[in-house]
Amino acid sequence: MRNYDVIIIGTGVAGLFAALNLGSDKNILIVTKGTLEDNDSFLAQGGICVQRDETDFEPFLEDTLRAGHYENNEAAVATMITSSQNIISDLIGLGVAFDKQGEGFSYTKEGAHSRARILHCKDMTGKEINSKLIARVKELANVTILENSTLVDLLVADERCHGVVLRDQSGKLANLYAQATLLATGGIGGLFSKSTNFAHLTGDAIAIALKHGIRVKDLDYVQIHPTSLYTGRPGKAFLMSESLRGEGAILVGKDGQRFADELLPRDLLTKEIYAQMEKDRLPYVRMLLKGHIDGPIAERFPGIHGHCLEEGYDLAEDYIPVVPAQHYFMGGIEVDLQSKTSLANLYAAGETSCNGVHGKNRLASNSLLESLVFSKRAAQAIEATFHREPPCLFPEPDARTIADGLDESTNTLLKLIGIEAEMHAK
Ligand SMILES: Cc1cc2nc3c(=O)[nH]c(=O)nc-3n(C[C@H](O)[C@H](O)[C@H](O)COP(=O)(O)OP(=O)(O)OC[C@H]3O[C@@H](n4cnc5c(N)ncnc54)[C@H](O)[C@@H]3O)c2cc1C
Repeated sequence: MRNYDVIIIGTGVAGLFAALNLGSDKNILIVTKGTLEDNDSFLAQGGICVQRDETDFEPFLEDTLRAGHYENNEAAVATMITSSQNIISDLIGLGVAFDKQGEGFSYTKEGAHSRARILHCKDMTGKEINSKLIARVKELANVTILENSTLVDLLVADERCHGVVLRDQSGKLANLYAQATLLATGGIGGLFSKSTNFAHLTGDAIAIALKHGIRVKDLDYVQIHPTSLYTGRPGKAFLMSESLRGEGAILVGKDGQRFADELLPRDLLTKEIYAQMEKDRLPYVRMLLKGHIDGPIAERFPGIHGHCLEEGYDLAEDYIPVVPAQHYFMGGIEVDLQSKTSLANLYAAGETSCNGVHGKNRLASNSLLESLVFSKRAAQAIEATFHREPPCLFPEPDARTIADGLDESTNTLLKLIGIEAEMHAK
C-alpha cells in the first residue's frame, strides 16, 4: 500500500510551490501526467504582477476588478495583492533572476494595467520560475516525483478525500493514500481545437470533482487570448505575448489602419479582432512592432523572435499575422482563501481552482501570482490542520468503471463550459 502525508497532482508553479512550502517532516508525492516540464507554467512569457508600493494597492485592485467585470471576489484579490511582494521575495530566494534596469527591477506593462507592475525574465518568465522551482523541489529528500502518471479518480468516503487513483503509462491503476490531497492540474485548453495550452491539460480534476459532487464555479468563464501566431495549421497555438502590445506593438487590419485600442482588456480586444477579421474576410489581423517599440526587439523578446523566425517572420521588421485562441480558465474547483475545496482534506490551487480572483476575465500576468499566493496558502492550511490517521482502505480500482465515470463527467464539463469546446482527438 502506498501511503503519503500529502499528494500533489501537477508540477506547474502551483504544485511545486506548495511542495516547497510544506514542512520537511511531510512525506510528499508529486505527480504529473506528462514530464516535469510539460505544463503551462513553463510557457508563461509576459511576466508576473507585483504591487509596486503602497500607492499601487488601489490601482492594482481596480485594474483587476475592472478586467474581471467586477465579478471578482474582492477579498481574494486583496489577499493576492498584499501577498505579492513576499511571493516575489520567496522566488528570488529560490534563485529566480528577474530582469533588472540599472539597480532596480525592470517592470513592463500589459493590457488593462494602469501602470507598469509586471516583473519578467525576458519573454521566458515561466521557464525561469518553473525551472528554479523544479531544481529546489528535486533537492528535497521528503518529496517523491512521479512523471507520466495520470489522476483518474479521487478516493472519497465519509465526506472526506483519502487519496487518489492514478493510471501509469501501461494503463495500470493504483490507489494511493494521503492525509491531504492538492489538485494543481492547470487549465482546460486541451479540450479546444485551438489553444495556447499544452494539449494534455484537459480539466481532468474538474471532471473528477463534478463526478463526486465537489463544488465548482464559473465553468463558462473561459478566456480567449487576443493574439496567437496565425499559421493556418491545427494544434497548439503559439502565444504572441500581451507585453508586445504593452510595450507599443500595434494591430492593423487589411487596410494597414489600427482598428482598436491594443491595451483593451483581453475579452474586449478579442471581440474587436473578430469583428475586423470578418470585415476583412481574413482569418487573422496583423501585428507590427517596427517603429513602435523602443530598443532591440530580438534582445527583449528572444523566445518570440526565435519562434517567429522559424515561421518565416522577422519580429523586428515584418507584419505578423495573429488570431485569438483559447488561453485561460477563470472557473474551476471552488475554493476558499485557504484553497480548501468543499470536500474535507482536498485542496485545489492554480488554474484548476476558482477562488474568484479573476472574476469573469483575468488581468494579464495575474495568473502566476495567483497560483503562487494560493498554493502557498494551501500548504499553510494543510500544515495547520495536519494529523496522521490510519488510511481508510478502498477496493482495487476497476478500469472500466473509472474510464466510464471520467468520460461521463468530461462530457458534463464540456456542456457546462458551454462553448465550442471539442476534444483534440476528435
Ligand atoms: C502560452 C502561455 C503564456 C502565459 N503567460 C503568462 C504570463 O506571462 N503571466 C501569467 O501570470 N500567466 C501566464 N499564463 C498562464 C499561466 O502560465 C498559467 O495559468 C499557470 O502557469 C498555471 O499554473 P498551474 O500550476 O495551475 O498549472 P500548469 O502549470 O499548467 O500545470 C498543470 C500540471 O498538472 C498536470 N496534470 C494535469 N492533469 C493531470 C492529471 N489528470 N494527472 C496528473 N497530472 C495532471 C500537468 O501535467 C502539469 O504538470 C500563460 C499561459 C500560457 C499557456
